[in-house]
Amino acid sequence: MPKFQCFRCLHCCFFSSEDECPVVLPREKRRLEELAEAEGVELTFRKVGNEGLYRWVIKGYCPFYDVRSRGCRIYEERPLACRMFPLLLNPKTGEVSVSRACDWVVANFGEIMSGDPKEVFPEELNAALTVFKELRKQ
Ligand code: SF4
Ligand code: SF4
Repeated sequence: MPKFQCFRCLHCCFFSSEDECPVVLPREKRRLEELAEAEGVELTFRKVGNEGLYRWVIKGYCPFYDVRSRGCRIYEERPLACRMFPLLLNPKTGEVSVSRACDWVVANFGEIMSGDPKEVFPEELNAALTVFKELRKQ
């Protein structure tokens, strides 16, 4: 059974539609705004659903993506949505799905579908569970 291993293909740090953009918790929104302010960058968020979540609206590359090194400049502080990708959380239904926009998912799709998600995406599922736990506390 394959375990998820990022190809660093950059697809998940480039956004061509709002629906693909990360959904973040209020505390993550505040931290992202602080990080952005320190760099003189303006971020846009839209409230989604009734759970107190925000859609971080990004057009093109994430402002924290370093194109040259193909890495996240705020890796240690990246939001849970980035930590759980290629898992996606639907803020309206609470459903977790697997993104077909991820190159690794496309390359391993057959095996993923027949596998145990806890084995394939252990860290990513943990990040998704943290979102649910934090939402329950709000
Ligand atoms: S915060 Fe980091 S991991 Fe998340 S989209 Fe931006 S560059 Fe990518
Ligand atoms: S799309 Fe998938 S393989 Fe590509 S950088 Fe994102 S998580 Fe990694």
